[in-house]
Amino acid sequence: MSTTEQRVAIVTGAARGIGAATAVRLAAEGHAVAVLDLDESACAQTVATITEHGGTALAVGCDVSDSAQVEAAVARVTQELGAPLVLVNNAGVLRDNLLFKMSDDDWDTVMNVHLRGAFLMSRACQKHMVDAGYGRIVNLSSSSALGNRGQVNYAAAKAGMQGFTKTLAKELGKFGITANAVAPGFIATDMTAATAERVGMGFDDFKAAAATQIPVQRVGAPEDIANAVAFFTDEKAGFVSGQVLYVAGGPLN
Ligand code: NAP
Repeated sequence: MSTTEQRVAIVTGAARGIGAATAVRLAAEGHAVAVLDLDESACAQTVATITEHGGTALAVGCDVSDSAQVEAAVARVTQELGAPLVLVNNAGVLRDNLLFKMSDDDWDTVMNVHLRGAFLMSRACQKHMVDAGYGRIVNLSSSSALGNRGQVNYAAAKAGMQGFTKTLAKELGKFGITANAVAPGFIATDMTAATAERVGMGFDDFKAAAATQIPVQRVGAPEDIANAVAFFTDEKAGFVSGQVLYVAGGPLN
């Protein structure tokens, strides 16, 4: 555990994957963590992992794209754990398709979860951060922000997350709040497993093929991203704001 005083963190999409690893890591750093996901019961495993290691965690069911649910969830976290001063906007979905086959719903769903979700969660949490004169916001972007075939919706949302992050950094810096983005490359989670299935490959073969294109010759693990998030959320990172850190096992072209 670090010397950082215990603060309340919210991690969205924390039932599994990168969000779960990040919630566990922030708890290990001494934060009380609200494990937020669509289905509250799906958060049980992440909460159990944290509490088994002596940490404090709360499962919260919330659709981050729904304004009323977000307001209620942040109010509940504030009441049960305390004012959230750390926010990780991690919840995400894929609706991949080539442009000519992409439906209105594929576009709207991805925009709503990633961009509207990050906006609603950040707006709901910032008032607590401003009151405290302290805050850390980390947004999950992606290497796909640079463009990726079959992901016109996701690439636009993840590039949008970068502009959103830099603007938060400019607006909120004077209140002691930093905002940064982590942009993962290929991370082995249910999300990439679903992509393997969609393209008709076994996940092990899919990961092996991806690893050959990555300078460190392996795909990432959720903990690789949790480590980067933990850097930005640390109290000592207060002069680092508005940055996008690609965590992809090498540089991207
Ligand atoms: P994941 O395993 O699919 O987990 C995403 C989590 O977000 C799920 O638990 C999901 O819940 C939840 N979620 C989806 N919609 C939500 C909503 N409206 N409200 C609340 N929670 C919601 O994904 P991951 O791979 O860990 O990815 C985490 C983040 O990293 C995402 O933003 C993703 O775009 C980004 N990222 C991932 C990779 C990668 O290679 N894996 C690369 C770059 C960026 P359900 O299970 O109920 O749907």
